Amino acid sequence: MIPGNLYIIATPIGNLGDITFRAIETLKSVDLVLCEDTRVAKRLLDHFKIERTTESYHQHSSLKKTGHIADLLREGKNLALVSDAGTPGISDPGNKLIESLISIFGNDLKVVPVPGPSAVAAALSICGFPSDRFVFVGFPPAKNKRKKFFEGAMGYSFTTVFYESTHRIIRTLEEIGSFEPDKLRRVVVCRELTKQFETIYRGTVAEAANILKKGIIKGEFVFVIEGRLTGN
Ligand code: SAM
Repeated sequence: MIPGNLYIIATPIGNLGDITFRAIETLKSVDLVLCEDTRVAKRLLDHFKIERTTESYHQHSSLKKTGHIADLLREGKNLALVSDAGTPGISDPGNKLIESLISIFGNDLKVVPVPGPSAVAAALSICGFPSDRFVFVGFPPAKNKRKKFFEGAMGYSFTTVFYESTHRIIRTLEEIGSFEPDKLRRVVVCRELTKQFETIYRGTVAEAANILKKGIIKGEFVFVIEGRLTGN
């Protein structure tokens, strides 16, 4: 018995024009689309006139759900997984499902990447810092252990990228500022990438904080920090 394929499909992070031909073709071809949020996915599918059945799969989905997905694959059904935006598995659901399914089917299961937009790659591509090597550290914790998180994030000699919630942008700049003694490290704060109000703030950590404090802080953000300067 050869199971159906599981396609991991990247979707736009804002601008719908960023969807790939292959993403559309694959979404049209599968038997079922697993979605982080079916309402969000429905808007995307409707926009591209893709008529496919959807089912939810998110970070709190149960083992029973995984069992159901395994049954569908066993029946030879081809499935797609999409998250709300960007690439599934990158700070989004996906990995746990893949791990569980591989433990069931082993190498018989074809997990097929359909690559495309991701906020981390978009931010890195315009930062201007070296990115032949980089570190991506996901989201800082909302409350506890932030100090430890930023101490770690500011300690890398490679360009370091993280996501942050819109409510904590200034606080985050102040926190990272406290981990660099000579105040020379540069940061690129990317807001609303690929969207109407896309804004890129560049400067030292303090300069970026000053500019951002003057504006309205709204939308989605990615931080890119220059690697630790030699001598620090
Ligand atoms: N899997 C997604 C990816 O590949 O980009 C990331 C999902 S994560 C739950 C969502 C976070 O990504 C947001 O809180 C924000 O930090 C970042 N993000 C997503 N879209 C963005 C955009 N258009 N501009 C800036 N940051 C974005």
